[in-house]
Amino acid sequence: MYHAVGHRPADRVYGLSVSPGAFRTQMEILARRGFTPLTTAALAGSWRTGRPLPPRPVLITFDDGYEGVHRYALPVLAEHGFAATVFVTTGWLRGGHDEGGAPDTMLDWGQVRELASTGVEIGGHSHTHPQLDQLDGAALRAETAGCREIAAAELGAPPASFAYPYGYSTRRVRRAVRAAGFAQSLAVGNALARRRQGPYALERVTVRRRTGAAEFARLVEGRALARSFAVDRVLTKGFAVVRGARRVRRRPG
Ligand SMILES: [Zn+2]
Repeated sequence: MYHAVGHRPADRVYGLSVSPGAFRTQMEILARRGFTPLTTAALAGSWRTGRPLPPRPVLITFDDGYEGVHRYALPVLAEHGFAATVFVTTGWLRGGHDEGGAPDTMLDWGQVRELASTGVEIGGHSHTHPQLDQLDGAALRAETAGCREIAAAELGAPPASFAYPYGYSTRRVRRAVRAAGFAQSLAVGNALARRRQGPYALERVTVRRRTGAAEFARLVEGRALARSFAVDRVLTKGFAVVRGARRVRRRPG
């Protein structure tokens, strides 16, 4: 999961941004290691139909819709022939539906259409980027169905995929996203996407400004994650053993 790509992103997005050079290096790492990027819709479609996935499948996603995705990421993606998904906050994009409040320079709809025309999937990311679980039913519908309608009107086809603002969802939010017509949705977690997470809670890992090349390689291989989970498991098991021993001692004998 990426956000902004740029040399000097705004303070609000800096930590979650990557430099154009780092992005280029990271795409070279994917190419060298034989990864096959695919769109979110293609991944979910494969899992839904049983159609086989390409070797070493990976999703490259960009949340919010920053202009740097068009300026810096798109040429690199095109060089490699890599698929990607951009999740747009429709009320942040420059142009007719702009509600203000965008944290940095955003794409305009012409740039979004250009991304779509090169095969980049355009997904929804709400209209004004609220915490969706805090909204009442009407506002939740406006943020999900409204986002989908605006994107459909601008792009000529409704978006199929959604990503939760802040990566977080409740069952009520997931239901609303589904009712709005989205076929799958992405969350954020310290984990790779797995089929068992279900189509409305697929997890992603975050690439940050401080993510170095070696850490990026570990992330996409699932190794950095596997290691922290292994530690968690050892700790959990250790506590279970201690608790078990106490129970045994307390047992009247
Ligand atoms: Zn976002």
